[in-house]
Amino acid sequence: MKVLCPGCGYIADKLPPTHKCPKCGEFSIDWLIYDWESFALINRQHIKYNLIIIGIVLINLLAAVTLKSTDAFQWLFNLLFIPAMISLLYCRRQLGRKSEYKGHKGGAMLPWFIGFGGL
Ligand SMILES: [Zn+2]
Repeated sequence: MKVLCPGCGYIADKLPPTHKCPKCGEFSIDWLIYDWESFALINRQHIKYNLIIIGIVLINLLAAVTLKSTDAFQWLFNLLFIPAMISLLYCRRQLGRKSEYKGHKGGAMLPWFIGFGGL
């Protein structure tokens, strides 16, 4: 797995053990992962998750409308459509920008709904 120095853009085959860039000499804990294939794979996975969420929301919305639901939670659940749609569009845009790809952060690649673990 290749990594990219956030300071000067130097690409190394593996993370220097000291986290010190051999080119610009800068120490950084924020080395980016430079691997388009894994980045694209993660984005495609997120798109799949988001499509599933959007599908569930639409079914739930249809059920809520059909049954004239008065359950507040059932209506609030539909709000998940918004982050799912934003994330979906964002991931699609990322996938279309291979030429502008400049590495990605490992931790930033978790899907947005991880924070909704209680649901
Ligand atoms: Zn550097």
